[in-house]
Amino acid sequence: MLKTLSQGHLSLLETCPRKFQHTYIDQLGSPIDPDLQERLRWGSQFHLLMQQREMGLPVAALPAEDGEFQLCIQALVDAAPELFEPNTAELRLSEQPCTLFLNGYLLTAVYDLLLIRPGRGQIIDWKTHLKPKTSAQLVQDWQTRLYLFLLVETTPLTPDQVSMSYWFVRCQVPETGAFAPQQVTIPYSLDQHRQTRAALQRLTDQLTHLLDQPQAFPQVEAAKGICRDCSFDYRCDRVAKRASLYFPPLSAVAEVPIKPIS
Ligand code: SF4
Repeated sequence: MLKTLSQGHLSLLETCPRKFQHTYIDQLGSPIDPDLQERLRWGSQFHLLMQQREMGLPVAALPAEDGEFQLCIQALVDAAPELFEPNTAELRLSEQPCTLFLNGYLLTAVYDLLLIRPGRGQIIDWKTHLKPKTSAQLVQDWQTRLYLFLLVETTPLTPDQVSMSYWFVRCQVPETGAFAPQQVTIPYSLDQHRQTRAALQRLTDQLTHLLDQPQAFPQVEAAKGICRDCSFDYRCDRVAKRASLYFPPLSAVAEVPIKPIS
């Protein structure tokens, strides 16, 4: 029985309950695109190096083929020296897990870097996408909503005392190819905290209800266009519906007589 929910679970449950079922309950995997696989490997290696750096271990002794990581980390330190300056009034926690039991589920988060000072808490998240997301996208992202919610619920900090900063570390200057990390900071408020609590209550209630039913989880409406990029489209019988957007039914195509070659 599924009892632990991360931001990925919440996001998928909200996007399409059927996809959530296939992915997390039926555990139906699908092959990963090799480019995506490489980007995931890069991201995971970068996070390990940042954790190593935070522990005071050297990252300068990387093999030559990993020089890109060194350049990327150095560009980040140059762009945001205040993030890396020692501060005795600050508690720094790297790869810090955080959990909260709510409505029958264990909500979980892992903070890449958490900076706590008296009356202030800042979540830092390293993003290794090639393009940054906008502030509007990030405010709606379940990672932002869950991570800030958990920080407020598990510390004495109030919503207006916390924020979440995303650092898109892999952005480059198009002309030179030099790394130019970009930052987006999301503030938080009591109103957002209440909205997130209500959304969590709604989603966990929905999941409990769906898990109690013998039927398959509901599919997202085809009109939302989400099925186009879903690897379960054939299983969900959404391929034909998708194709019909582009091809008329055969009965609607006029017959073209074939003339015999004389
Ligand atoms: S094809 Fe559509 S309905 Fe089926 S799992 Fe994917 S997103 Fe959901």
